[in-house]
Amino acid sequence: MVLKSLDSRLDLKNFDLSELEAWLKELGEPGYRARQLFQAIYAQGQQDITAISTLPKSLRYMLTENAFISSFSPEEVLKSADGTVKFLFRLDDNKRIESVLIPQAGYYTLCVSTQVGCAQGCRFCLTGKMGFKRHLETAEIVNQILYARAHLPQPWPLRNIVFMGMGESLHNFQHTLKAIQIILHPLGLNFSHRRVTVSTVGLVPQMLKMSEAANISWAISLHAPDNQTRNFLVPVNKKYPLDALLEAMKRMPLPPRKRFTIEYVLLKEVNSTLKHAHALAKLLKNLPVKINLIPFNPHPGSEFQAPSWELVLQFQEVLQKYGYTVTIRQSKGADIGAACGQLDGQPQAA
Ligand code: SAH
Ligand code: SF4
Repeated sequence: MVLKSLDSRLDLKNFDLSELEAWLKELGEPGYRARQLFQAIYAQGQQDITAISTLPKSLRYMLTENAFISSFSPEEVLKSADGTVKFLFRLDDNKRIESVLIPQAGYYTLCVSTQVGCAQGCRFCLTGKMGFKRHLETAEIVNQILYARAHLPQPWPLRNIVFMGMGESLHNFQHTLKAIQIILHPLGLNFSHRRVTVSTVGLVPQMLKMSEAANISWAISLHAPDNQTRNFLVPVNKKYPLDALLEAMKRMPLPPRKRFTIEYVLLKEVNSTLKHAHALAKLLKNLPVKINLIPFNPHPGSEFQAPSWELVLQFQEVLQKYGYTVTIRQSKGADIGAACGQLDGQPQAA
């Protein structure tokens, strides 16, 4: 790797640990220096290279000549009546992304973005309506977590990371994988693999590749029990239809007792009749899954509606009768546009 001149210094948060080790080795430094640096950045949240006291002064000086540690500060922070917090971050190129911090019983879950916009164009999703602007870099993914971890409203731990913000993380494979490696590494953000969930619309080859590369939890955005309905709602189904998606799930290694979460947005009349529930139950037969029903969250200009609460419960009951574990996602933060499918990177105060 070539050293960059001062005006194009490298962001150390774009390196995973093995890249940091390789880079420092080229500079004649032993491997443990990279580990010390990595630990300072992630375990301690250090943002100033000159303040990393575990490194000798000469190395700190050399690092500042060639690199920097980026950090985020939000352009806007919105707090929902239910305790959910939405952070709006403006990136260096003035594009915006959002992260959503969700309080749970004594801990927090952070929903992170991996792209500005999304290329998948699911019909019911506001981010999809934006179209694709660009991928986030590794640093831009991990900085969402580092900022939230340092600004938790209550003294509860940040325990879960879900890749359910703006974008399809598997479309941004390389940066998502590097961010996951940083999130899971004991010297990095040190999250348990059970507590890191990638939600995907079903990009089959990338699902297989990611499941080989990283041990994480999975949520699959299914939303329909047949190809005709799914083609309409989730255009990528034409490329990777249901049988290919289910086949991939069978091939993906899952640790014992671990199950896929099936995400299913309930849209009035489109995919939420009891006929759909029976078809879904049959489709998922013998797969290690639990089902998470998400009543549609409305946004301006959307063509869909959520079914009545009574229908949501009936849909759940049908699936439960087949023996599935079925939860209903009470989407939080709807009053601040932070619920699933409501993220469009637009400030409210503007
Ligand atoms: N791109 C990934 C992750 C981001 S979306 C994916 O699609 O899985 C996270 C979840 O919110 C997905 O299951 C998505 O289908 C769902 N979602 C999108 N728009 C929604 C809306 N308007 N109401 C409810 N859920 C929505
Ligand atoms: Fe993209 Fe997910 Fe929205 Fe589909 S639901 S457009 S994959 S963010």
